[in-house]
Amino acid sequence: MLSKSIEDYIKIIYRLEADNERATTQRIAQQLGVRMASVTGMIKHLAAENYLKHKPYYGVKLTEKGRRIALTMIRRHRLIELFLHQTLGLDWDEVHDDAEVLEHAVSDQLIEKIYTFLGNPQFDPHGAPIPGVDGSIQPLKGAALSDCKPDEKGKIVHVSDSDPEFLRYLSRIGLKLKSPFRVLDRAPFDGPITLRLGRRKVIIGAEAARRILVAPDNET
Ligand SMILES: [Zn+2]
Repeated sequence: MLSKSIEDYIKIIYRLEADNERATTQRIAQQLGVRMASVTGMIKHLAAENYLKHKPYYGVKLTEKGRRIALTMIRRHRLIELFLHQTLGLDWDEVHDDAEVLEHAVSDQLIEKIYTFLGNPQFDPHGAPIPGVDGSIQPLKGAALSDCKPDEKGKIVHVSDSDPEFLRYLSRIGLKLKSPFRVLDRAPFDGPITLRLGRRKVIIGAEAARRILVAPDNET
């Protein structure tokens, strides 16, 4: 098993790549809350072990070996979140922190038991795809709610799990994964969006709407 620290570095670099951001020493240090000198040392180690490659004047990129580790960690994280949510009844804003800890501790066997127990699920409680055991991952599908126009209908397919306060806010206004909605109004100049959500009318700010992905209701 790799150390928690190595796994965290690989995860952060994967996330930066997925967000189309350069994985520079500075960014990695910021994200992990560690000193630049520690990052430089760890990057050397990870490059020597062939988890990543240096790209001069760019930063680092994961090798296929590094990418596989990242996807294994994401599979663990998302399956643990789903287990905590679906089986133990934790709310969607309560699962991330425990998953961050447990993902480093569980065995592959336990994770595969959880996967089978949950019925081979494809998405975590926030709608993020769960990578396959073979390292495959489906792209996140959907458009930002902020791009919807009046009268458009759809359902919520993904929300970011990084901010529990944001998830609690969504719960308070009655917005859940798979909630069907219709756009009633959209204020100009990046103003709020008014939705019909079930029987209620809900107003969501543009910033929040950018963090919610939606898809047509007929799509699975
Ligand atoms: Zn999470």
